[in-house]
Amino acid sequence: MAERKVPFFVYPDVYRDDAEEIQKIVDDVGNRGAFILQKDLEQFEKNLSDYLGIKHVLGVGNATDGLYMLCRASGLGPGDEVLFCTHTMVATAAGISFSGATPVPVETGWDHEMDPSSVEQAITSKTKAIMPTQLNGRCADMDALQKIADKHGLFILEDSAQALGAKYKGKCAGSFGRGGVISFYPAKTLGCLGDGGCIITNDDEVYEQCKLFRDHGRIDTLEVVCWCLNSRLDNLQAAILDYKLTKYDQAISRRREIAGKYQEGLGGLDAVRLPPGPEQDADRFDIFQNYEIEAERRDELKSYLAENGIGTMIQWGGLPVHAMKKLGFTRSLPFTEQLFEKLLMLPMNTSLTDDDVEYVCATIRQFYQ
Ligand SMILES: *Cc1c(COP(=O)(O)O)cnc(C)c1O
Repeated sequence: MAERKVPFFVYPDVYRDDAEEIQKIVDDVGNRGAFILQKDLEQFEKNLSDYLGIKHVLGVGNATDGLYMLCRASGLGPGDEVLFCTHTMVATAAGISFSGATPVPVETGWDHEMDPSSVEQAITSKTKAIMPTQLNGRCADMDALQKIADKHGLFILEDSAQALGAKYKGKCAGSFGRGGVISFYPAKTLGCLGDGGCIITNDDEVYEQCKLFRDHGRIDTLEVVCWCLNSRLDNLQAAILDYKLTKYDQAISRRREIAGKYQEGLGGLDAVRLPPGPEQDADRFDIFQNYEIEAERRDELKSYLAENGIGTMIQWGGLPVHAMKKLGFTRSLPFTEQLFEKLLMLPMNTSLTDDDVEYVCATIRQFYQ
C-alpha cells in the first residue's frame, strides 16, 4: 500500500473549505424560511451576471434541464438537427433530444474541443444549430464555429457546464450564441452542496421563455401559460454559491497554477500529451475544470498511479456519447474513438498541495522510465 494519497477529488471539501460560513448561511436562510425563488437567488443571479459580463443569469435545477430549456426557447423541435461533439456528457445530447430535435454527433479535435471541420461535413438541410461543449474549462474555436454558423444560417447554443469564466478573445463561455449553461454540481469549479445550474444568455426573449419553463409556465402571477418543468435553483444553494463566488477568482488562479506545475513536471515526456498550458494561447483563458492528458498505455498507467495512492478518472466512463449504442447513434467517429483510448484525467482541484502535484508528476515519470 502506498503511504501517500492523492485522491482525484475530495467531496467533503466542497463543504469543509467553507463550513463556518455555510453554517451561518443555512441559519440565516432557514430562519427566514426563504427556500424557493427568494432574494438570495436573485442576488446570486445578479452577481454572476456582473461577474461574467452577460445580461441574464437564470438559476435552474441543473445544467441538463438548462440545456433542454435553452433548446426549447430557441424553437428547436422534431425534424431539427443539432450538431454536438461527442467528447461530452450525455446531458448535452439529452438536452437536445428532450426538445424533440435530433442530436447529431461530430468529432472532437486535437485540443479535446469540437472540431469545426467535422461540423461543416455534418450539416444537412435539417441542421438548425451547433452546440459546442466548452470542455475541461476551455472554449472551442468560436471564430471558426461562428463562421460556419453564419455561412449556413445556423445558431449556436453552448454546453458551457464546465467552463464558468473561461474566455475566448475576451468573451466568456456561454456568451457566444443564443445562450449557454453552467453546472454547479459539487465537483464543478463552482460547486454547491447538491444539484444546481444556471442558464446564461444575452437574449431577452430566451431569458423570458426559460424563466417560464423553470417554474411551471408561470411568471409572477399564478396564471399558467404553457406546459413546463419545475426546475429552480434552490434559494439556499444560491446563497451558498453567492458566497463561493466571492472566492472564485482565487480558486481559478490556483487551478491555473496547478496546470502550470503539471506542464513543468510532465513536459518532455514522449508518452504523454498535455493539454495546452495556461499561458500557451493568448486568445484563451482556460479555467481547468479538468486536467485531461493523453497517455500511452493508459490503463496500465492508471493502475500504477492507483497502486501509488493517486486517484485518476477517465471522463464519461471512457465512452464518447456516440458510442452509447442504446441511444440509437450509428455514426462512427474515428478520431474521437482513438482519442478515447488515451484519455486520462489527473487530480485537478483546490485541495491539492504543491507536493501532491509534484508526487503525481514524479510517479508518472517513474512509470514511463
Ligand atoms: C456536468 C456537466 C453537465 C451536466 O450538468 P448537471 O448540472 O449535472 O446537469 C453537462 N455537460 C457537461 C459537459 C458537464 O460536464
